[in-house]
Amino acid sequence: MSLTFKSRWPVLVICAAIAACSQEAPTPAPAPAPEAPAVPAPAGTAGMVDDARINASETAEPESWLSYGKDYREQRYSTLTQINSENVGELGLEWYLDLDTIHPLEATPLVVDGVMYLTSAWNITYALNAATGAEIWRYDPEVPGEFARKACCGVISRGLAVYEGRVHVATLDGRLLALDAADGALLWEVDTVIDRERFYTITGAPRAAGGKVYIGNGGAEFGVRGYVTAYDAATGEQEWRFFTVPGNPALPFEHPEMEMAAETWKGGEWWEIGGGGTVWNSIVYDPDFDSVYIGVGNGAPWTRAIRSPGGGDNLFLSSIVALDADTGAMKWYYQTTPGDNWDYTAVQDIMLADMNVDGVDRKVLMQAPKNGFFYVIDRADGTLLRAHPYGAVTWATHVDMDTGRPVENAEVDYSEEEQWILPGPLGAHNWQAMAYDPERGLVYFPAQDAAFVYAMDDDYKETGLYKRSPGRSNLGIEFGRIAQLLTETPGGAAPVGYLKAFDPLTGETAWSVQHADWWNGGTVATAAGLVFQGDSLGNLSAFDSDDGSILWQSNTFTSIVAPPMTYAVDGKQFVAIMTGAGIRLDAIPETATYQYGNWGKVVVYALGGTGELPTPTARDLSIPEQPELTASAADIARGEELYHDICGTCHGLAAVSSGTLPDLRMMTKERHAAFNAVVLDGILRNNGMAGFSDTLDATDVGRIQQYLIKRATEDRAAAGEA
Ligand code: CA
Repeated sequence: MSLTFKSRWPVLVICAAIAACSQEAPTPAPAPAPEAPAVPAPAGTAGMVDDARINASETAEPESWLSYGKDYREQRYSTLTQINSENVGELGLEWYLDLDTIHPLEATPLVVDGVMYLTSAWNITYALNAATGAEIWRYDPEVPGEFARKACCGVISRGLAVYEGRVHVATLDGRLLALDAADGALLWEVDTVIDRERFYTITGAPRAAGGKVYIGNGGAEFGVRGYVTAYDAATGEQEWRFFTVPGNPALPFEHPEMEMAAETWKGGEWWEIGGGGTVWNSIVYDPDFDSVYIGVGNGAPWTRAIRSPGGGDNLFLSSIVALDADTGAMKWYYQTTPGDNWDYTAVQDIMLADMNVDGVDRKVLMQAPKNGFFYVIDRADGTLLRAHPYGAVTWATHVDMDTGRPVENAEVDYSEEEQWILPGPLGAHNWQAMAYDPERGLVYFPAQDAAFVYAMDDDYKETGLYKRSPGRSNLGIEFGRIAQLLTETPGGAAPVGYLKAFDPLTGETAWSVQHADWWNGGTVATAAGLVFQGDSLGNLSAFDSDDGSILWQSNTFTSIVAPPMTYAVDGKQFVAIMTGAGIRLDAIPETATYQYGNWGKVVVYALGGTGELPTPTARDLSIPEQPELTASAADIARGEELYHDICGTCHGLAAVSSGTLPDLRMMTKERHAAFNAVVLDGILRNNGMAGFSDTLDATDVGRIQQYLIKRATEDRAAAGEA
C-alpha cells in the first residue's frame, strides 16, 4: 500500500515526459486500483526490537526484557547477577507508580533500551523511564466497561509485545493495536473477533516474530469457539487463522486440520454452545523450527457428555499445537487431556529449552497445564518425553508413556454423583508464569492442591438436554449450588499452595515452600541463584534457588498474582512487580487484598533503595443495617443459585468478597434502592459492572437481592452488629 503509492511517482513522471514529446494521443492508462490509506510507520527509533535482537539478547543485552517471557524461549531466567544471595538483603524500594485501579494486574512489564512498557487494567498502556518510573507516554484504548462482564475472570491484561518500533496491545474487547513505541500514537488497529454476538475477550499478551503478531482470545466459559490469528506487524493485515475446534459440520472446514478434528467430536451440537478451546495465554514462537506453539484451553461446556455425547477426544481441546509460523499449518499436536471434562486448559506458559534427555540432546518444550502433569515434549515432532505428576492428581492415575494418554480414574466419574476431584478447575498450576534455571535443571512455579466438587448439570441429568444461555457461563456442571456442594460433600480438603522447585526429567520436587494462601504469583529466576515470587499476603520474596530459604522479603500491601521481572539500566539491576489480585471465589482474611482491597501499582526495587510505600487504609468490613427480608425461602434459594451462577465468581462465594471487587453484603439501604439500576440498567458499567438485562429480569434480580440481604443480615448478627 505505502510501497505502491511511492512507486507510482516515477511511472507518472515517465508518462508525462512521453506525452510532452509525442503528438499522438496517449493510450488511456487503466484506472488505478483504489488504495487503502497508507498505514503510518513508527516516527522514531524507540522499541526497535526484531527477531535477531531477541535471539541474541541473553548474551548481548541481559539488561533487557524484550518479550513476554524475556526472549523467545520464555524461560524467565535472567543472567543478571548484581543482586545475589550475599546482598539481596539490601534490596529496597527504588520507585513505584500508582496505577489507580482496583482491577487485577497480571502483566509482565517489558524493558527495551531503558524504557519500561506495561499494560494496566483496561489495557491502559504506559511507557516509563525504567530507572525512575517517570512517564514517557500513556495510551488509553478506551475499552468499553461492559466488557468486564464478558470476561470470566476480570479486567485483565497479561502484557504486550514491543517489535520493530511498535507496541502491540490486545484489548479486553478483542482489538489488536499497534502503537508507536516513541510516543504511543495509534498506528493501526484491527478487530480480531469473528462473532460479536459471543463473549470473546482478550487477556493474553500478543507475541511478535517473523514480521507477524500472534494473538488468541478467551471466552470458553461463555460459549465461544477458539482460534489464533497472525497479523502483519507493520500493517495489521491478517496473515492466517487457525481454529482450535471444529465449527458446524454442515459448513465447509476452514482448514484441513478441522476435518481431522471434527472426526473426534461425536453427536451433540457443540458449535451451538461454542466448543471452547480458546488460546488465552500461551503462544510461543520457536526460531529453531520456525514454529508457533499454542496452548489450547478447555471445552465449552466443561462436561464432555453434553459437548460430545458420542465420546471422542475432542481435538484440539487441552492440547499443545505446533503451527508453521508462516502459514499457520499444523505440524504436530499433543493433547494433554483427551475429552476434557474438568476445565483442564493447556494454555499455561510453554518454555523452550535444549536438554539432554536419556543421553540424547533434544530441543524440548515444557508445560505444567492445569491437569497436574508436567510435560516435556520434543519440539521437532511432538514426541512425549516426560509426563510426571507435579501435584496431587485424582482424575487420572498416570500418563501411559507408550500411548501418551492419561489413564482416567473411573472412581471419580461425576456424571451420576458429585465428586471431589484434584485438581479443580483452577488447576494444579494456572497461568502464573514459571521460570527455568538451565544451570540447576529446575523449574520454579506456583503449584496448588486445590480440589473442587464437580457435579453434572441437574437439568441435563433429568432431561438429557442442554441449551446454551447467552450472556452466562455455560459450564455443564452445577455451579449455582456450589456453596452447598463445597460444604456438604464429604471428602474435601482446604486448598494449599506452594512454590515448587521441580525437576522436569526426574519428576522430583527438589524443594517446596508452602504459602499461607494457595493462590500466588509467578516467578523469575536469576543466574545469581535467586528466585523471586510475589504472594497473596502481598510479599515479594527472594528465595535461594538451591533450597528455597527466604533471603529477602518486602510487603507491597497488595496481593500479587503477576510474575516479577528483572532488568538493568546503566549497570544498575532492578526487580519489578505489578500488584493486584485476581478475582476469586473464596475470601481469605490473611490476604492483603482482603485487608486493604486491591491497590494496583508497579513496584521496583534495587540495591540500596530507600523508598517506602505508604500503608494503605484497612477496608471497612462492617455490615450496615439492611432492608427487610421479604421473599419466601424458595425465592431466596433461587436467588442464591442465580447469585453463584452469575455474580459469585467476581463478588465471592456466599456473597463474601475476596476484597478485589465490592462485597455486596456491605451495601447500604441507599445502595439497595439503586440495585435494579445497577444490575439491570448498568449505571456502573464504566466501572466494569455492566447491566444484566439480557439475561436477568426484575423478578430474578429481586431474588438475588433478597439472598444478599439474608447473607448480610446473618453476618451482621454474627458480628454482633444487629
Ligand atoms: Ca476455563
